[in-house]
Amino acid sequence: MSSIYQQKHPFWLQQALSDVVMPDMPTLTKDIKADVCIVGGGYTGLWTAIKLKQQDPKLKVVIIEKGRCGQGASGRNGGCMLTFSTKFNTLLSLFGAEEAIRLVKASEQAVFDIDSFCQRHHIDAEIRTDGAIYTATNQAQKRTVAQPLSLLEQHNINRWKTCDPEYIRQTTGSALNVAGIETPAAGSLHPGKLVLGLVKHALAIGVEVYQHTPYLDMVCGEPVVVNTPYANITADKVVFAINAWMGQHFKRFNRHIVLVSSDMLITKPIPKQLVDIGLTHGKAIADSRIFVHYYRTTKDGRLMLGKGGNLFAFNNHMLPAFDQPSQYGGMLSTAFHKFFPTLKTEFETTWTGASDRSKTGLPFFGSLTPQNNVFYGLGYSGNGVVQSYLGGDILSSLVLELDNAWTKSPMAKGPLGGFPPEPIRYLGAQLVKQAVLRKEQAEDNEQSPKWHDLQLAKFAAAAGKADK
Ligand SMILES: Cc1cc2nc3c(=O)[nH]c(=O)nc-3n(C[C@H](O)[C@H](O)[C@H](O)COP(=O)(O)OP(=O)(O)OC[C@H]3O[C@@H](n4cnc5c(N)ncnc54)[C@H](O)[C@@H]3O)c2cc1C
Repeated sequence: MSSIYQQKHPFWLQQALSDVVMPDMPTLTKDIKADVCIVGGGYTGLWTAIKLKQQDPKLKVVIIEKGRCGQGASGRNGGCMLTFSTKFNTLLSLFGAEEAIRLVKASEQAVFDIDSFCQRHHIDAEIRTDGAIYTATNQAQKRTVAQPLSLLEQHNINRWKTCDPEYIRQTTGSALNVAGIETPAAGSLHPGKLVLGLVKHALAIGVEVYQHTPYLDMVCGEPVVVNTPYANITADKVVFAINAWMGQHFKRFNRHIVLVSSDMLITKPIPKQLVDIGLTHGKAIADSRIFVHYYRTTKDGRLMLGKGGNLFAFNNHMLPAFDQPSQYGGMLSTAFHKFFPTLKTEFETTWTGASDRSKTGLPFFGSLTPQNNVFYGLGYSGNGVVQSYLGGDILSSLVLELDNAWTKSPMAKGPLGGFPPEPIRYLGAQLVKQAVLRKEQAEDNEQSPKWHDLQLAKFAAAAGKADK
């Protein structure tokens, strides 16, 4: 699989950089003052900056990014626009009905808001709000795939429907999918084009963006002084939007997240073959495993397939392997051929990235200082494309000290639940991973998994796309 897209950046970012002309974003070399300094140039940092400027155009907002904006998860994710709806049970038990309903509705609305934002600002992120299908590929998955719907129905917020198996087979392009549910409130997009589009828009509305300017440390006080290699930023408020890197700078978060890879493979353009198997849409499609398979087509006629739960990092180190072609290419191509045995295609490339899994499978936001002037958000757990838009609402509201549903949300009150310390966490993760793989293999063979594998797999249940 040699490809131009294996060069410097993950596939989407590389592709976007060859399409979108980006203005220069210099390294910060002289001390500056700002109202708000945002650390991290991914979706969370960018949406926060944009929403701050929308609410108060006079604010001086500065983003510092250690490398290139979009080099993190935002430029390398699967581009599946999914919502909190299938996490409603978890939301309900943690936050209560009112907040759970609000978050599900806000996340569904966010799919369409991101689309209209991009249309309004001429960002061609190749968004297709065609919905999503969650499928079952065996009898065990068939028993659970529609489980999240009953609670949504009880609360009158269900937008999913259970579909006829033939419709599922035809619409997903794969006879492996034997049952499924579908929602219109979802879709897919080009991750790299979204992140670069957001950068351009942020610059256009006056946000200052400094690339190749890593945060080193800070002196907390009022104001806060943020140190970078060549210059300092003195800011009234600081926002950390550094996702998987958070544990490197603030050790306490290592108890609240586990870094685990999601791995992806993408074909060369095969538009005609995709039409032949019925993949003529931009729906996000995922099976019902804990370590889920997910796929979507692209505007240029490719098919991307991803799988979560592969490489775990000891002590949340950002391993070089998180920024390389996937080590799991063989496993991905086997899965691909199982889903699509008739497709004759070459793969363009594989890539990977670190997902910040929280204990609950939900993101969390909060303040690092008693003065409430340094904020953070992370823990998207592999579902951040849409949720980071809401992250922008939460973080901008916290910065502006607003008294609203976002600042009152329990999601803005820090992490819920933790993992054991190392080395127990790493060893435990390996044990649970192997149990999940054995359980899912048994289910694929239509056999009953062993009791202890079922029990161990429950520890990873939050990693799935839907509540179990
Ligand atoms: C492989 C993969 C597949 C995924 N697929 C999906 C999907 O299909 N659907 C979905 O909803 N979600 C998906 N996600 C999750 C989603 O991509 C993330 O939740 C989301 O992009 C997080 O955005 P962010 O801005 O918080 O983090 P990031 O995009 O990671 O941005 C953090 C930024 O901080 C910068 N940074 C780090 N340290 C410093 C420092 N010291 N100083 C300055 N800058 C720093 C980094 O360089 C990076 O650019 C996936 C994630 C991965 C990794």
